[in-house]
This record gives sequence, C-alpha cells and structure tokens, in this order.
Amino acid sequence: MTALDLPQDSLYGVDNLPYGVFSRPGETPRVGVRVGDHVLDLAPALDDQDFRGPTLNAFMARGRDRRRRVRDDIRRLLTEPRQRGRVVPLLHPLRTVRLHLPFDVGDYVDFYASEHHAANLGRMFRPGSEPLTPNWKHLPIGYHGRSGTVVVSGTPVARPRGQYRPPGAAAPVFGPSQRLDIEAEVGFVVGTGSPLGQPVPVGAFTDHVFGLCLLNDWSARDLQSWEYVPLGPFLGKSSATSVSPWVVPLEALAYAWTGPPERSPEPLAYLADAGPQGLDLGLEVRLNGHLVSRPPYAAMYWTPAQMLAHMTVNGASTRTGDLYGSGTVSGPDETGYGSLIELTRNGEQPLRLPDGSIRTFLEDGDEITISATAPGPGGIRIGLGEVTGRITSPGEGT
Ligand code: CA
Repeated sequence: MTALDLPQDSLYGVDNLPYGVFSRPGETPRVGVRVGDHVLDLAPALDDQDFRGPTLNAFMARGRDRRRRVRDDIRRLLTEPRQRGRVVPLLHPLRTVRLHLPFDVGDYVDFYASEHHAANLGRMFRPGSEPLTPNWKHLPIGYHGRSGTVVVSGTPVARPRGQYRPPGAAAPVFGPSQRLDIEAEVGFVVGTGSPLGQPVPVGAFTDHVFGLCLLNDWSARDLQSWEYVPLGPFLGKSSATSVSPWVVPLEALAYAWTGPPERSPEPLAYLADAGPQGLDLGLEVRLNGHLVSRPPYAAMYWTPAQMLAHMTVNGASTRTGDLYGSGTVSGPDETGYGSLIELTRNGEQPLRLPDGSIRTFLEDGDEITISATAPGPGGIRIGLGEVTGRITSPGEGT
C-alpha cells in the first residue's frame, strides 16, 4: 500500500526508490525519487535543502547512514495513510517532467570485467593469439574516459568522425565511423570519496559507492581498432557515453548480491572477495524496439568492489560523482552478448530483426535501449530504468 496504490509487483515500488533529477516546464531541475510512473519532489517532501539543487551530488556526499535514514523517511511518507494528503500533490507523472543528468560526473573510468566479452573481442582483434591477455585474470583492466561527454538517456548521439584504416588499405582515411557499436554496461557512482594515498579495500565498497545506473559506452570500432595500440581506447570511445536517469541506491539491491564466478588463478590478496559481491542483474538490449540480447550481469568475472579496490590501490583518490563502468556485460553465448560486434561476429553474421531489417553496426536513426531489473524482496523484481539513445548523422543538430 502506497500513496499511489501501486501493485505489489511494480518495478518501482517502495523497495526500489531510485534517485534522479527532474524539472517541470518553466521550473529549475531538482532531485526526485521515482515511485511507479511518478516522481516525488523530495525537497518539499522532506523539507531538505540537499534536494533543491540540480544534481544528486550534495546528497550522495553525505554518506551511507544518511542515505539509509532518507530512504526510511521516504518509505514512511509513501506508506503511512496520514501522509497521503501531503504526498500526493508532490507526485508528478513522469510524462510531465524532463529528466536530467542525475549527477555531476567526476572522473570516469571504464572497466572490461566480462571474461566472455574480453575473450570474444580478443579473438576478433588479435586472431591467432590467446583470447585473453596475460594480465586479464590478475587485474580488472580499465582506462580513464571522458567524463565531460557523459550524457543522460534520450540525448541524441551523433555518429563520430575520425581516422580509421579500411580493411586491406595501407593508409588511414578520415570520415564518419562505419562501425558504430554499443556496449551494454552497468555504471557505479561514488557517493563518499576517498583521500589521496588511501586505497579503498574490497570490503569497503558499500562505504563509498552510492548506487548504480545503466550505461551505454558508444564505441566506434573502426576508430578504436586503428588507434588503441599501445595506450588503449581514445577517440573511438569519447564522443558520448549515455547513462540512465535513475541512480538505484545500494539499499535497493539487497537481494541482488550473489557469488561471482569461480576465479582461477586466485587474484592477489588486495583483490580477494569480501563476501558475495557479484550482482545478479538481468539486462536487456533493444534495437529499434526489437529485443536482441539479454546480458546476465551475474556472469561478470570481476566485481564492482574489486574494480574500486584496483582503481585506488595505487593511492589514487576518488570523489563524489566519480563514475566507473563495468565494461560490456556479455554472457557465455549469443543470447547474452552486450555489443553488436559480438552479436554479428564482427559484422560477418548480420542480425535479422523481426521487421525484416538487417544490421551489422548502427545506422543513422537507429535507437538503442538498454534496460535491466534486479531481484527484490519476496520474489518481486525492481527496475533499474533504461538508457536510450538515437544515432544522428555527424554534425546534425541536436
Ligand atoms: Ca566499455
């Protein structure tokens, strides 16, 4: 029973309560929490200044204990009959609001934590070699990305231009990417930072991470394959990264933790698991509305806690709003591949969609939507929202 009389199996009931930033026409952006298909205006609901600003950062910086108290307060507001008269006017239908980038992105790091994805790409990019590089099972591989081009779901994505070498050509050419791809990922958002010189142990993950969002790491494969040796991804990845408008707090994921896959060899001590720190999330990828994949997050080799520990083990600091991506979520077979390069075997086996269209990589006008759910209490599932983006031709106005 809530102020909205939501059905028990709602993806966005009181066991979820993801945070975002919204505005109504003519009003400034401010923090809200999603309840069903409504957003609750938190600043007046809780009479709290932290929610008046245009990002979640002030609230995220307050830490875990405060986050838990606020969650309890919101649940009370939504479930106590005597609050109903006060709460209902502060609930706005989602179709009447605009959703904004929910947090100021600090540093952005993207990992490569799926063994299946890394092996699939290794076979394509380095044929004849071992699929995984010698370091892969010893550390979560990642790179520092471009936080300034992280955009909220719904933002048009312009096809990047750049330099690439066509197959068989001796010299590179310049032009729009011909092999624009997606990477279905989960993003982890730091709430409480850590100072320079103090690594975050695997067991301290929940002290620092606020919650998660969905992330699409748009990837120009032709630019990437020409530029990535020896320093890794650069312009093939940095033109845009889309994130979902809702950040799901860790408290909502209490039923989603699971043991990660068995690791061999055993990682070094600073990467040892501290409990079941894998996540059982079910992702779905849609291309122009057609379901093309269901990547299973539980198959990820490295946990988000290991990623954070590795990212800081050299003494690097973290800040409120830092974002790190999991890397493409891919399962063991094609029903769960999180990128088109895997789904189409590097473009050699095009996808045939139910409407008769055929795709290798993305065409202008294509729309990609990544959504996900997680287990909740009593067998229900909670929704992690969705991240969507439509490809526009290079330079086309947004
Ligand atoms: Ca990626």
